[in-house]
Amino acid sequence: MTTERENVAAFEESRLASIIDLYIRTGIQVHSPGYMGRQFSGVVPLGGVVDFVSSVVNQPSSFYEAGQLPNVAERIMADELNQFIGWEPGTFAMVTTSGGSLANLTALLAARNKMFPDFWSHGSPGSDGPGRPAIAVGADVHYSITRAAGILGIGEAQIVRLPINRDQQICMDQARPALDEAAGRGLRVFCLVASVGTTSVGAFDPIDELGDLARERNLWLHVDGAHGASLLVSDKLRKRLKGIEKVDSLSWDAHKMMFVPAPCTLLFYRDKQDSLGAFRQQASYVFDEEPDPYTELDSGGRNFECTKRPMIMALWVLWAVYGRALFAEKIEHLCHMTEAFHRILLDEPDFETLHRPESNILCFRYRPAELEDEDVHRLQVTIRNRIKRQGDFFISKVNIGGVAALRVVVMNHQTNPDHFRMLMGEVRRVARDLVGSSA
Ligand SMILES: *Cc1c(COP(=O)(O)O)cnc(C)c1O
Repeated sequence: MTTERENVAAFEESRLASIIDLYIRTGIQVHSPGYMGRQFSGVVPLGGVVDFVSSVVNQPSSFYEAGQLPNVAERIMADELNQFIGWEPGTFAMVTTSGGSLANLTALLAARNKMFPDFWSHGSPGSDGPGRPAIAVGADVHYSITRAAGILGIGEAQIVRLPINRDQQICMDQARPALDEAAGRGLRVFCLVASVGTTSVGAFDPIDELGDLARERNLWLHVDGAHGASLLVSDKLRKRLKGIEKVDSLSWDAHKMMFVPAPCTLLFYRDKQDSLGAFRQQASYVFDEEPDPYTELDSGGRNFECTKRPMIMALWVLWAVYGRALFAEKIEHLCHMTEAFHRILLDEPDFETLHRPESNILCFRYRPAELEDEDVHRLQVTIRNRIKRQGDFFISKVNIGGVAALRVVVMNHQTNPDHFRMLMGEVRRVARDLVGSSA
């Protein structure tokens, strides 16, 4: 820190350089092929350049008046990406939000307000009327959904967890009985939340069938596609999202599998009208009394942020300059690599596989024959932490069926099977050290 207090300190290049150096050194090295840890990643370099320009021109994008190009680019990208969803042009809506968590919250708010029109002004109907408002979710749903239930006044106790199958997807055979049971307890489920894919293992819920169930029972179907919606742009992988046109809302993080700087989240609504239902407000300083032809481009009434980053710009520029293939090829390559890593594990008796990867997330355990069942959990946690500390690899950990597993998310196209084998070697070495030290 400068010791200067009374005057603006002279600019010292070396001081700045050491701060930037510290910033880079202390972060996770997302550009290393040993980085297989989480869902953020290195970005397409041009995306970083556009993000820099956005920071300099500093035009917030909730209102057309300030962010003219970002607001138009949002419409263009919505139409471009809708080609892979398939709604009638002009009938749907898309808003950008600062992250998938906020998109999930916004969508559930729109669902709540539609199904309970008095909730916004009068608060929860509680147990008066036709039952307590409740939502049904896959048992492995992201924490932002359960958090949203708390924020929205639904209450965590009114979350109905639908059982999942061996592949960690919502189990259709058990979904209807679970909803019936909830109704029997006086819950009025108004919204069904599915994931494509889940954060822990990348599982894709059967949205085609869930879409039918939602229609049959008059439920809002929200699909959390923060991680996996990007698979829509690939002709080979789109089938994982079969039925996507049936959903009421869809969250899509471009800062995950579209490799743009965070945050950049797209929230789609099948029915344009529904996008207006999340928020109701009056603010004379921003909302126009005399709407002009451009007011329609404002998103301020439909997103929580007042000042909002023009986050669409990096995505739109990359899409405009390189085209869809850049994204499709990278996503396909990452998913293909993940399958290859899974096959490698199948041949190794001291590793346990837990699922066939549906995208680029792979969970497994190191489980040599002599390891006692009660030590399995502890060993995975310790291996993960030691590997992280050593610093050649970065992987994560997740509990599956209450037992820890090692988790890799393949986000870097430079990570190849040799790197994965090196990681396995590291896992074995760490485990052997641990057994040695406990003996
Ligand atoms: C990452 C993720 C989220 C949260 O999104 P943020 O952009 O980190 O807020 C929500 N749901 C799923 C399935 C995710 O993978």
